Amino acid sequence: MHERETGMSAEIDAIERVGGRLCLDFVNTRSSHYASDAREYLHDYTDLLRWLRGCADGLSAAQAGPLAAQALAHPRLAAAAFAQARVLRDLLYRVFTNVARGTGPARGDVERLDGEVRHALAQRRLVPGANWHWSWIDPDALALPLWQALASSAQLLADDDLTRLKQCPAPDGCGWLFYDTSKNQTRRWCSMRMCGNGAKARRFQQRLRDAAP
Ligand SMILES: [Zn+2]
Repeated sequence: MHERETGMSAEIDAIERVGGRLCLDFVNTRSSHYASDAREYLHDYTDLLRWLRGCADGLSAAQAGPLAAQALAHPRLAAAAFAQARVLRDLLYRVFTNVARGTGPARGDVERLDGEVRHALAQRRLVPGANWHWSWIDPDALALPLWQALASSAQLLADDDLTRLKQCPAPDGCGWLFYDTSKNQTRRWCSMRMCGNGAKARRFQQRLRDAAP
């Protein structure tokens, strides 16, 4: 699919993956969750595939190629799958942030997510081998990126330690979500480079102003 990679969406390749989980990095495909005019990294279905290609547990080239071909052959279906992906991203953001804040997600959101997850997980099949693993019944389905995000979400919510699910804090942070794997759960920022250093610099400037005569 390299000949179709024109570089027009290069920014999607540069986006940092700091979430620690595929579903969190999926939610982090906006530059900020706090700014209403935040930069959007996902513009179309091709962006979605490119983004997943860059995720460690996303799509291999062999998996992404047939999906890109499907999207070219069925642009309206691809656009519909992409629109669904954006709706799903909003839903996941609402659920994860409410879990991270300890407020608990809205009942309607839980029901929607449960329905989506059950549908996605029903698309998997077991593949035998030295280590058995899950694969997808229809690997060319345009909804596959959504199913991957949903499978990752189910794993996070059911299997992970949710006290480690955090959000880069306002006002200095960006609202990105991440899974804190630090020993004492002391991670505060999505990354020092993107938000932590800026917050440190602002606190330093504030101290200088406070100390000024
Ligand atoms: Zn941040």
